[in-house]
Amino acid sequence: MSSKNWSPRSLAAQAMGKIDPTTKGVVPPIHISTTYIRDEDNGYSGGFVYGRPDNETTREAESVLAMLEQAKAGALLFGSGMAAATAVFQALSPGDHVVASKVMYWALRSWLLTEATRWGLVIDFVETDDLAALAAAVKPGKTKLVWAETPSNPLWTITDIAAAAEIAHKAGAKLAVDSTCASPVHTRPLQLGADIVMHAATKVLNGHSDVVAGALCAREDDEFWNRIKTVRKGQGGILGPFEAYLLMRGMRTLHVRQERQSASAMTLAQKLSAHPLVARVLYPGLPQHPGHDIAARQMEGGFGYMLSVQVVGGEAAAVKAAAHVELYKRATSLGGVESLIEHRASIEGAGSPCPPDLLRLSTGIEDIEDLYADLDQALKAGHA
Ligand SMILES: *Cc1c(COP(=O)(O)O)cnc(C)c1O
Repeated sequence: MSSKNWSPRSLAAQAMGKIDPTTKGVVPPIHISTTYIRDEDNGYSGGFVYGRPDNETTREAESVLAMLEQAKAGALLFGSGMAAATAVFQALSPGDHVVASKVMYWALRSWLLTEATRWGLVIDFVETDDLAALAAAVKPGKTKLVWAETPSNPLWTITDIAAAAEIAHKAGAKLAVDSTCASPVHTRPLQLGADIVMHAATKVLNGHSDVVAGALCAREDDEFWNRIKTVRKGQGGILGPFEAYLLMRGMRTLHVRQERQSASAMTLAQKLSAHPLVARVLYPGLPQHPGHDIAARQMEGGFGYMLSVQVVGGEAAAVKAAAHVELYKRATSLGGVESLIEHRASIEGAGSPCPPDLLRLSTGIEDIEDLYADLDQALKAGHA
């Protein structure tokens, strides 16, 4: 690679600029072999042994993400966001104490409450956007991990990453950040003091709703990161080469997609705030959002592609409005080029902090006028 300091945008657009040495193709081939020839002396001079621990295409995608997150210790790709997140908890030991965000991706909260406790982890959930509550929850010497999701799904609360890192480190714990909804375009948690950053790469990193993938990036190549590597290798959680290729192709356009999506989300948040059938808009880009000041400090170039609205008329009106969208797709997931709408409370079930009148909106790259017009007509239909 050149010694010039090309920007992340330039490096991502070219997936690090690697040229295939055999054909000089500007898109490297997908490496699909699961096994590799041993040398006459039984060694592996190619550096690869077997497909479960390692794959060249997966490594290439990892190098793009490590560059985007400025992750000194590198990145690891997994078969899903959940596989990546759970690997962090599985790298802990029985009896370790964990503090995690109360508002977070619901499937991970559910896994922590059921599976992780069976493995002997002791978990407290707090509002990590409340630094006093976080400081009161960590137990010096006992707490080994603080897990914060920011902006957090589906209320988009903002945790101050630098302050949370200081609290975690003072107690002798690591800070891991689920940065799926910020993406490295807007926030680089490792630069703010976090130790691990996690992504559901299924979402905006890939961006086309056609790959399930997860990622972890680390600041330090320390014992904890090596434990995580051992977990992925042993449990076989590596992302396959075809998915890694698609993810890498997605990341080439990450900046342009993310900028468009965040700009549209901001416009929608502003317009919907003035809509008579919207009781409240939850979006960190709005000055009235409780996390706005911190978001303005720790997010760069936008506030992300996710927002939620609370609908006048409560749950019934919200569900009915979602039933009437035409351009928006009524589906779960987020971060793709197509806009999605979902009534979250009915998915998340009991124990969810999600209000029943809330609709979650993932903003795609469609025409902003069309997106607003579709929501406007759906909200009106929801009230008819
Ligand atoms: C989707 C998502 C996950 C889980 O990722 P999968 O790829 O679906 O396993 C974790 N965190 C957040 C914030 C997500 O949106």
